[in-house]
Amino acid sequence: QEPVIANFIRNIIDDDLAQGKHSSLLTRFPPEPNGYLHVGHAKSICLNFGLVQGEAAYPGQCNLRFDDTNPEKESTEYAESIQADVRWLGFEWAGEVKWASDYFDALYQYAEALIQAGKAYVCELNAEQMREYRGSLKEPGKNSPYRERSVAENLDLFRRMKAGEFPDGSKTLRLKIDMASPNINLRDPVIYRIRRAHHIRTGDAWCIYPMYDYTHCISDALEGITHSLCTLEFEDHRPLYDWVLDNLDIPCHPRQYEFSRLELFYTVTSKRKLNQLVTEKLVAGWDDPRMPTIAGMRRRGYTPEGIRLFARRIGISKSDNHVDMSVLEGAVREELEHSVPRVMAVINPLKVTLTNYTEGVTAARSAGFHPNHPEFGEREVPLSAEIWIERDDFSDNPPAGWQRLTPGGEVRLRYSYVIKCDDVVRDAAGEVIELHCSIDHDTLGKNPVGRKVKGVIHFVAAAHALPIEVRLYDRLFSVPRPDAMKDEAGAEIDFKTFINPDSLSVVTGYAEPALAQAQAEARYQFERIGYFCADRHEHSASRPVFNRTVGLKDTWSK
Ligand code: ATP
Ligand code: MG
Ligand code: MG
Repeated sequence: QEPVIANFIRNIIDDDLAQGKHSSLLTRFPPEPNGYLHVGHAKSICLNFGLVQGEAAYPGQCNLRFDDTNPEKESTEYAESIQADVRWLGFEWAGEVKWASDYFDALYQYAEALIQAGKAYVCELNAEQMREYRGSLKEPGKNSPYRERSVAENLDLFRRMKAGEFPDGSKTLRLKIDMASPNINLRDPVIYRIRRAHHIRTGDAWCIYPMYDYTHCISDALEGITHSLCTLEFEDHRPLYDWVLDNLDIPCHPRQYEFSRLELFYTVTSKRKLNQLVTEKLVAGWDDPRMPTIAGMRRRGYTPEGIRLFARRIGISKSDNHVDMSVLEGAVREELEHSVPRVMAVINPLKVTLTNYTEGVTAARSAGFHPNHPEFGEREVPLSAEIWIERDDFSDNPPAGWQRLTPGGEVRLRYSYVIKCDDVVRDAAGEVIELHCSIDHDTLGKNPVGRKVKGVIHFVAAAHALPIEVRLYDRLFSVPRPDAMKDEAGAEIDFKTFINPDSLSVVTGYAEPALAQAQAEARYQFERIGYFCADRHEHSASRPVFNRTVGLKDTWSK
């Protein structure tokens, strides 16, 4: 395990603990259940949960809280997927899952308290007028004509909003802060709107819903969160977070700290955009292995350990966090290198007939599943009169230094004999369709006499081969920043224009018989090719399906 890297948040926590401000932490991860989690959320999960769980833990716990204040976009499926993803990443939340909707009554009571204190009013400006009155960065806003209503009138109207007396969108409850504030978030923000929408937990009990900024700080305070960690776009919301808590009678006032959002090149990290890919069927679903979702990465074969290693490496700071895909793949690859068995499979097969193969004389050999992990066990690697080799391992016209097979040349079959290519069979078009090779029977487990054979290639014995469907995935987009592309006139181009048409190819390959036992989600290294994972949903003993997780080498940062 790599050492934990200090960051500004850990420094703040160290100070808080040293000064006795807290004796333990309570953090929270607060997703909105409006989509599946993506790799950016993984960063936030590894931060919030990683502060209190794992090898670098401070004493404390982390809440999982659903920010369920936008009923139209939220679903139980999303909420369930989020819980599964957090657990799969290796984390566990404190007690029961929390929901912002648990606090709807409390939030409503606090709103009445703000009205009573003359700090909130019912406004009737429509969305367009509201925008006009809000002003801009350059000019102050104007007070709403409804700003000076009496407490009694505001209370009456707010209660009637709740009782369903007014149509959707006709009134809002706003905080009375400062329409001239340089921070637009403080220009009398809306904290409640009327919306008749069915909510996944409260059903039709409410027709008014609280806004995120109002809900979030109160939820944090009610739970006793010590450090409320969010991404930098909320920096300008912090004064509002603090204003609400300063103006309410809640004993706890959590502190908000912001860090930079992770952005990965060649993909998008926005639930809204990922949702478009799913609904427009440009991918096979939220967990399509090309998706940067946690469920997609899981299905592709990424390990929780690999993703956590990635999160550690990218670190936490306030500076730009655009990261190359190769950093994620590198972490995943490094972790798989030591944790999964190695087997042989051929994904672009060329038939080889072993002309002197003799049943009962030509022997099989045992081989370990991992050179450094004898505890992974071993299996017999069979041979047969016909074998499959990788088409790329034969060349008619090899470049200098070629160590694989060539007419008249020799090569060792991994864990097996040295063979020599005696004949090349071609079809009418001249395409190589088969090789005839002879075995040197005196080379099993030892070097041939009198000459050196440097090349070693992998193979699969045709008589024992397991046909497998192999899904080869490439990057989903063909440009580094698909969501930041502009045309000549400077207009934004739809990110979906840049989907890589070759992001998936499906081939039939052959694997050694040991793979017949593979369970869904089993991970392997296919020697000399890459890391593969039995598809979580579509793999079965009768139809083996393997997804390429990542190649053996970095092919991204060329
Ligand atoms: P999206 O725009 O993709 O919907 P979001 O920020 O609206 O993302 P939430 O469900 O509100 O999604 O996010 C839950 C938590 O995850 C928040 O604290 C948010 O700051 C954090 N988070 C979301 N995206 C990223 C990211 N790319 N990098 C780091 N943290 C992120
Ligand atoms: Mg959000
Ligand atoms: Mg969002």
